[in-house]
Amino acid sequence: SPGAERILQRRSLEILNKQQSWQNSLEGQKMQEFRKTLPAYKERGSLLNLVAQNQVVVVSGETGCGKTTQLPQYILESEVEANRGAACSIICTQPRRISAMSVAERVAAERGENLGESVGYKVRLEGMKGRDTRLLFCTTGILLRRLLVDRMLKGVTHVIVDEIHERGMNEDFLLIVLKDLLPRRPELRLILMSATLNAELFSSYFGGAPMIHIPGFTYPVRSHFLENILEMTGYRLTTDNQIDNYGQDKMWKMQKQALRKRKSQIASAVEDTLEAFDLREYSLRTRDSLSCWNPDSIGFNLIEHVLCHICRKERPGAVLVFMTGWDDINSLKGQLQAHPLLGDPSKVLLLGCHGSMDSTEQRLIFNKPEEGIRKIVLATNMAETSITINDVVFVVDCGKAKETSYDALNNTPCLLPTWISKASARQRRGRAGRVQSGECFHLYPRCVHDSFADYQLPELLRTPLQSLCLQIKSLQLGSISEFLSRALQAPEPLSVQNAIEYLKTIGALDEYENLTVLGQKLSVLPVEPKLGKMLILGAIFNCLNPIMTVVAGLSVRDPFLMPFDRRDLAEASKAQFSSRDFSDHLALIRAYEGWKNAEKRQAGHDYCWKNFLSLQTLRAIDSLRKQFFYLLKDTGLVDDVDKCNSWSHDEHLIRAITCAGLYPGICSVVNKDKSISLKTMEDGPVLLHSNSVNAQQPKIPYPWLVFNEKVKVNSVMLRDSTAVCDSMVLLFGGSLSRGGLDGHLKMLGGYLEFFMKPGLAETYLRLRKELEELIQN
Ligand code: ADP
Ligand code: MG
Repeated sequence: SPGAERILQRRSLEILNKQQSWQNSLEGQKMQEFRKTLPAYKERGSLLNLVAQNQVVVVSGETGCGKTTQLPQYILESEVEANRGAACSIICTQPRRISAMSVAERVAAERGENLGESVGYKVRLEGMKGRDTRLLFCTTGILLRRLLVDRMLKGVTHVIVDEIHERGMNEDFLLIVLKDLLPRRPELRLILMSATLNAELFSSYFGGAPMIHIPGFTYPVRSHFLENILEMTGYRLTTDNQIDNYGQDKMWKMQKQALRKRKSQIASAVEDTLEAFDLREYSLRTRDSLSCWNPDSIGFNLIEHVLCHICRKERPGAVLVFMTGWDDINSLKGQLQAHPLLGDPSKVLLLGCHGSMDSTEQRLIFNKPEEGIRKIVLATNMAETSITINDVVFVVDCGKAKETSYDALNNTPCLLPTWISKASARQRRGRAGRVQSGECFHLYPRCVHDSFADYQLPELLRTPLQSLCLQIKSLQLGSISEFLSRALQAPEPLSVQNAIEYLKTIGALDEYENLTVLGQKLSVLPVEPKLGKMLILGAIFNCLNPIMTVVAGLSVRDPFLMPFDRRDLAEASKAQFSSRDFSDHLALIRAYEGWKNAEKRQAGHDYCWKNFLSLQTLRAIDSLRKQFFYLLKDTGLVDDVDKCNSWSHDEHLIRAITCAGLYPGICSVVNKDKSISLKTMEDGPVLLHSNSVNAQQPKIPYPWLVFNEKVKVNSVMLRDSTAVCDSMVLLFGGSLSRGGLDGHLKMLGGYLEFFMKPGLAETYLRLRKELEELIQN
């Protein structure tokens, strides 16, 4: 209507006027100047032209050239100038929540605004977005969720998918959906942004969409490989604690053989190092296994040495260290804090950078430290492309990233630190040349680098697909297999089949692959399907608090710390949280509750320190719990806090619900004379991770353990577990509608006799039916 149009026009003008007054201010002018120095600025005109004339455009350009912060802004500015400001709605997706938040904050600052005015963000369970927000940064997951309720993306004018070169699962998924949507929304614009030069792949996926490359400017970065590093830093390696039983590790053996082949090309100094690498490799690979992690790991010591060298000998500038994961970052941080120079806060500012850090920590990373203090950031590979820390001059690259891979044959996810790709190594190196020429220390010989793959395998081809398949169903995208076969690179049919079977087993899909009521509810909860099922059951059975703790703990990370130098103490401390329960999940609940009580007395910090708990993790769990509660309230599953907790003290019920969620993650327990033998259906014998309270037990007086996570390291290992009894498995495990009680009894294997008592099976069947109706309705 004309009235509405007038209002829109007035809003457009307001935004425009506000921008103009900001741009005339001193600060605004400075910002304008800065923005004009970015390489993207030179391409502003051609970029906008291409976007105006094509439905899909692929943009590539080196990290830092201004894709993420500038391009969406250019579009917003040009829409405002064309008097369409109030009618436009630009969505820019980011693979990680932290980058969505930090980029939105940056762009708002560049426009002299607060977050939530014309620029906002939205990430899982959190956001900042207002009436006038026209440019929204969100995680890819959030856009997928929006598609659930708004399949046409009504009102959205531009979708920008960022960091597509990473080939994350969500991004690949989103591209299939958008490809279907484009013909139905001819005015919608799609812009794909990539930090590397493989734009052709995406362009041809979208029928030859035009590409534009932003020529980047970075300062030269000198690469040092291990050969030079040893020379530069005078580091001597000893092979005293050489371990010679790495023979079991096939992967490493192969790498080693390949390395040996090149022996002649490698200087003799490096030979020592390779020996050391054997050790490092051994430690990295087996630290997750039962054998203990060697505290004198050469890997960490080498990093420490290089950092010392930089602090003592090199010019000022921040250091960015690429590590394999959060555990590594924490352990290394611990080690460095004990160092006389690196641990001295008046000289060194030591920070971690990972996906789940909070915003204060985040800001510290971007800030310049005080004069004379050197900033050292220990980061995961998320600092490769999506986060730009400007003052980095030195990069230390350990050459590895923890990559999830998926063994479809055994239906087992694997998590191994693996060598990165050449593309990643180049990205890592590039981070050192942001403000001046830089140096990159690659902690591996050049010949190892030469053997890296060019690019990493897309995530879609190396992860379990359960959540994704559930989403395909809830978005009503038709047959799962057919849909996924249209991906940029389609996953193996076996992986797809496994995921579908899994969803049927937990009752999220029926036998015809249709979404069940449970499945619908699960697709709304922002956690893995099995954890969502636990939450729903926690609500149904009025046992919500402990279950929310377990689910939050499993989706954040384990709050129990296991520092390698005090491992015995830490294990004993964890054991006291689960004296006779045989459950890591009950231990988690007790630890969390103990901490909450201590917090009331202002003693939370002490409590964590005494009990080897991570305060930060407990806080993250705490905030996630709160969010779960509001979400469940929104969906109408809970109303009253007290009522939904009337059974929260019942340990059996907690076990049963844990079992319901984690099934079919289950193994049988057979107590032998001196040991316990554990078996799962698919893997045969499995082991318990040494961090589990059940690993220390001489005997487990229950027939089953349920677990959240199994990982293949050297052997298949269960990380966490809770002991459960037969009746819990029968009543709560999986969905009985398929295969009926018979199939279930078969599953229970050696424990059949008990249930074959006449009448008992029928009783279970009846109870079970009632239970299922409860869950499905
Ligand atoms: P790209 O997406 O191409 O990697 P960005 O748009 O993220 O590049 O960043 C462009 C430039 O903006 C960076 O090189 C940096 O100079 C600046 N910048 C980005 N984020 C921030 C921030 N949070 N604080 C200060 N400067 C930033
Ligand atoms: Mg970017």
